[in-house]
Amino acid sequence: MKNNMKNMDKFTIINELARRRGFFWQAYEIYGGVSGFVTYGVLGAKLKQKIENKVREIFSKAGIVEIEAPIIAPAKVFEASGHVENFKEPMVECLKCKKKIRADHLLQEALKMSSSETEKLSLEGIKEVIDRNGVKCPECGGNLSEPRYFLTMFTTTIGPYSDAIGYGRPEAAQGIFVEFRRLYELARDKLPFGVMQIGHALRNEISPRQGLIRLREFTIIDIEFFFDPEDPQCHIMKDVEDEGLRLLLAETRLRGLEDITEVTVGEALNKGYIKVPWQAAFMALAKRLLVELGVPENKQRFIEKLPWERAHYSRQSFDQEVYVDRWGWIEVSGHAYRTDYDLKRHMQFSGVDMKVFKEYDCPIEVERKVLKPQMARLGPAFKNEAQKIAEMLSEVSPEEFETSIKEKGHYILGNYKILPEHVEVAVERVKETGRRFIPHVTEPSFGSDRLVYVALEYAYKIKNDRVILSFPRDIAPIQIGVYPLVSKDGLPEKAQQLRQMLINEGFTVEYDEAGSIGRRYARADETGIPLGITVDYETLKDDTVTIRDRDTWKQVRNRIEALPDLLHKYFRMKIDFNDLGKPV
Ligand code: AMP
Repeated sequence: MKNNMKNMDKFTIINELARRRGFFWQAYEIYGGVSGFVTYGVLGAKLKQKIENKVREIFSKAGIVEIEAPIIAPAKVFEASGHVENFKEPMVECLKCKKKIRADHLLQEALKMSSSETEKLSLEGIKEVIDRNGVKCPECGGNLSEPRYFLTMFTTTIGPYSDAIGYGRPEAAQGIFVEFRRLYELARDKLPFGVMQIGHALRNEISPRQGLIRLREFTIIDIEFFFDPEDPQCHIMKDVEDEGLRLLLAETRLRGLEDITEVTVGEALNKGYIKVPWQAAFMALAKRLLVELGVPENKQRFIEKLPWERAHYSRQSFDQEVYVDRWGWIEVSGHAYRTDYDLKRHMQFSGVDMKVFKEYDCPIEVERKVLKPQMARLGPAFKNEAQKIAEMLSEVSPEEFETSIKEKGHYILGNYKILPEHVEVAVERVKETGRRFIPHVTEPSFGSDRLVYVALEYAYKIKNDRVILSFPRDIAPIQIGVYPLVSKDGLPEKAQQLRQMLINEGFTVEYDEAGSIGRRYARADETGIPLGITVDYETLKDDTVTIRDRDTWKQVRNRIEALPDLLHKYFRMKIDFNDLGKPV
């Protein structure tokens, strides 16, 4: 370790190491680089894939399936989802150097305000705080413009038509919601079911300066889980109910405290801390995922969002946070109870029915409100359109109609203004064979790039002044290093044979014969390769090799023949390092 690294924070060290070893770097370097875009090199791409596969493995056990939808969507999709209206951030411009700065982040940095405080502020509120505190441009000290909102979705046109607006998706969730009808059919018309999408998302962040943590193009893992709100029972509860969760509850935060409430999943549900059992179960899986990526339990927490911090679609949200050296607590996944918000909006905007039908065990008699068009009044008012309006009214929810009449004195039906005297709201007794309703959704949403970052930061260790990337062995980008002790006397040939044999067995292997064996081990440790296998003179006599552990530097010896089986078991976490030296 170089001496000057001792004073650097881990964010700087990891970014430097990532660039040097080829995990990731800023994209478009030859043109000066562009903030918010990264390219993953060989090691980083592999690490990211392995982390995503771990998510797949953990969530597929809960029955989640995966689809792949487009990144570009027509404007309608994001108008319906509410993003066109809500997916914006406050921004100010420096009147002197013209730099554009995210206003809430500026207040957090300049005045040490919390994100919860800044999220509450309207544009007027931000302006008032800037004026009152004399906040200036952090770059040149210039005066700042009035704050305004900046839409953080990338906008484009679809084809050569300037009015065919398209948006780059800022989340993968909508690609699932818009396909709900087909997905429900594929799930054999049964709830609950969950669908995942892992793919790129685009957010035109105003001034991203946090490496992998805040990108303009990143990989999102969205899981939309559809369930019946009247039957929210979770069939994986047995597996997760005793899992401990560290919650920072909204009620605690409202008292100005940061105390953690430690509960099991079962307790969190019994005490009403988490509303939806499936959401609690997914939070437990998310916690396990992070533990398996190397983040200890006490460096994780779930912070409940306050009402004004929640996304527009959410009724209850927890962010899973991990503690990192430079930034403190950062969000790695969001867990939102999206209710029927998205499906309902797509139903309104597309006109396609998103309701499902659930049959009762035996039919029941119920009282139900119905809308009865009053033709004697509709006729004179709407002439030959009256019949069409009467038909349209049969699709309207009586409850929605009543609310509108109560609040506005009328109901807007397409292009028509319906008044109370046009319709009677009657109550009828009917036999019902089942219920029609819009399913509710709970969503865990991870950012792959942040998972990569925290896996790297928590893997980073110093031993005897040397850097080790101590990845959990099942996510290490390269599994095995193969080394001839010296590069002569037939040892390289033997080592190459061994390398090929291990590759044929499906392992990721690196062969290295450059420099002393000590230097090669050091390089491998810094790359995070869990095992090093060295071919020496004894190998030529008895076909045995030494196997070296990255973390303890311990060595064991075994026959080459025994390796494939032992190594498969080792990387599937079935045996420990010492077992690699046992005769089989
Ligand atoms: P959100 O929909 O904002 O809750 O985002 C879901 C997840 O995506 C977050 O928990 C982050 O892990 C990740 N994420 C959000 N924005 C970014 C970004 N700009 N760069 C990288 N990851 C992000």
